[in-house]
Parts: sequence; C-alpha cells; structure tokens
Amino acid sequence: MAEKSILFEVVTPEKKICSQDVDSLVVPATQGYLGILPDHAPLITSLDIGVVKFTKDGKPKKMAVSGGFLEVKDNKVIILADTAELGDQIDLARAEDAKERARRRMEEHAANLDVLRAELALKRAISRINAAQK
Ligand code: ATP
Repeated sequence: MAEKSILFEVVTPEKKICSQDVDSLVVPATQGYLGILPDHAPLITSLDIGVVKFTKDGKPKKMAVSGGFLEVKDNKVIILADTAELGDQIDLARAEDAKERARRRMEEHAANLDVLRAELALKRAISRINAAQK
C-alpha cells in the first residue's frame, strides 16, 4: 500500500456498504470524474449515477453508485448514496435484465412512459454492469 491511505466509507439508507483503507479513487462527480489522492483538499460534491474506481493495496476495484453525495476531509472519503454495490456484490444477470427492461420501455414509447425514470433505471443498470466487470 502507498505510504498514506484514505479511509473510504460508503453508506446507504439500508446499510454501510464499506469502510476500508484505499490508495486512491476516481469518482463520478456531477461535474465530471474526480481523482482523489491522499491529502486531497476538503470538498463536498454531488455524484452522478456511475462507477467509483479505487485501488486497494495496489489492486483496482469498482463500485456502482446511484448518485448521492461525497465528502473529502482529513484523508477520509464518505459517500452517501441511495444504493451502492461493490463489483463482486453485483448480480450481473439482474443488471442485464434491468437494462433490457428499461431499453424495451423506452423503445415502446407507451403513452404513460415516465421517460426520466426509464433513463435513470437504464443508467443504473449500465453502471452496475460496468462495475461488475473486472
Ligand atoms: P432492479 O429493477 O433490478 O430492482 P433497480 O435499479 O430498480 O434494479 P434499485 O432500486 O436501484 O434497483 O436498488 C434496490 C436494491 O437492490 C438496492 O439495495 C441495490 O443495491 C440492490 N440492487 C439493484 N440491482 C442490483 C444488482 N444488479 N446486483 C446487486 N444488487 C442490486
């Protein structure tokens, strides 16, 4: 591991997803991807639906997040999100099904289609599929 590490915590309304020391992170902030190394300046930002990439003991890891907020302070990164899954916790078949369902809904153009809801479901599914891949 690098000399200095970052304590990475992710909390959802359901549970604590992780609390672990990591070397560095790249997060999907709403203004674009943001890299975080030890001794990063304090920061609060909102997150997009996407994939958090981080390295732990030099090994790359991924986590899917469905938006939320991130705080960086004193070598600690906290993410508060509605949902978050580490790559190896993701049910890939479920995410593929959710992607197909959202795609089909958008193609069918039903009169009562909630377009934003379908788009967000599609984005969540795609980010889970990406995070599940090594
Ligand atoms: P689905 O239609 O498959 O339920 P969704 O995007 O509507 O997908 P969410 O409402 O975002 O699901 O999540 C509900 C719960 O299920 C959360 O706890 C989330 O972490 C979990 N979850 C959703 N999809 C997956 C998946 N593919 N693998 C593991 N956990 C998942």
